[in-house]
Amino acid sequence: MRATPFIITNLIEAVTLEPLAAENRFVRVSNQDLGRKTNAWIAVEAGKIVGLGTDDVDPKFINFPIVDGRGCIALPGLIDAHTHPVFAGIRADEFCRRLDGVTYAEIATAGGGIQSSVKNTASASDELLETLVLQRMKVFAGHGVTTVEMKSGYGLTVSEELRHLRIIKKIAAKSSQTIRATCLALHAVPKNQPSAHIWADTCAKELLPVVQKENLAEAVDAFIETGYFRVEDCELYLRTARDLGLNIRIHADEFSDSQAAECAARFGALSADHLQFASPMGIVAMAAAGVVALLLPGTSLYTSIPYTDSRPFKDAGCAVGLATDFNPGSCPVDNLRLVLTMGALHCKLTMAEAVAAVTWVPARSLRLEDAKGALTPGRDADILLMPLSSCEEFVADLGRTKPHAVFARGFRVDE
Ligand SMILES: [Zn+2]
Repeated sequence: MRATPFIITNLIEAVTLEPLAAENRFVRVSNQDLGRKTNAWIAVEAGKIVGLGTDDVDPKFINFPIVDGRGCIALPGLIDAHTHPVFAGIRADEFCRRLDGVTYAEIATAGGGIQSSVKNTASASDELLETLVLQRMKVFAGHGVTTVEMKSGYGLTVSEELRHLRIIKKIAAKSSQTIRATCLALHAVPKNQPSAHIWADTCAKELLPVVQKENLAEAVDAFIETGYFRVEDCELYLRTARDLGLNIRIHADEFSDSQAAECAARFGALSADHLQFASPMGIVAMAAAGVVALLLPGTSLYTSIPYTDSRPFKDAGCAVGLATDFNPGSCPVDNLRLVLTMGALHCKLTMAEAVAAVTWVPARSLRLEDAKGALTPGRDADILLMPLSSCEEFVADLGRTKPHAVFARGFRVDE
């Protein structure tokens, strides 16, 4: 299906991020970098932005059907670059046990946590999982999200990981929203495996070649953390991924300094995520290697772990993004706009940095910056219209205001 052309008119402002896009720059984000244009219009054709201006509409778009943007601001469609949406069952019982004082680590050791979701998900049919993921995509769209990174990781056998990735691929093929799949086979050590190392090597030898052959994921991921996987457990897995042309993302240093930031830098990862306990050396190495720091404040909110301070990352020259980490146990937060406000406050981002952290920077972390993350002619028509009067209101909103309209590649996706 081909998206019909249209023109969005009378916008209070368009927050384009054009200065960042023009320089292909992801760091040192200032207010001027937001590229705000008042009394703006945006022309869309064949799923792309074909014109953007202020005041009088360019005559060549005069016959395009009008979408009235009166009372709204426009932003690039939001990009959630870290989610775990392929699962069945929410772990509410564990949340209540944590209220009783049991820790997340104790729950995991007792067979709960990720293992509990693995069990629930294994018993769900393809049809059920597909329905659940589609429902979650719709919720993301309702929050203004037009691009979603989706991880497997509740399979934890070769066949289940492949099943989940094939479900993601099937959904991605027919979605207007853009999906980037990540194989997170190293999410936890499966119960029936003798060691982390052995499971990781099995994935390297038996899983990743199939993932690459069937084009099931653009990247792999590993949870490098005490009690999960050590850097040395992941060596063959990450090397194999790199040799197969798959990108790398890392769950890094969330509970302790596990040298995961250093590992992400050494392998040239697209992003290292969480990062509460990343070492100063690891942060410097990430900056030098161009690894995006993706911070996930929803997990801190829901599990009472510290928030990640973005300042050491910014000072070192790292690009900083925000994502939800949507999952059934440690963070059932599916609203990236809520995370935007929380992240700005608790991870210490400025208004401009916060806007870039859910648009332009995560586009970079998915290698989609040529097509997404900014409102400029030639880029995809991923456009969020918010019934707010300014960008400042958007950042302060705490995800409270429903979008006026959300377009992904020129199609309305929020209704
Ligand atoms: Zn995660």
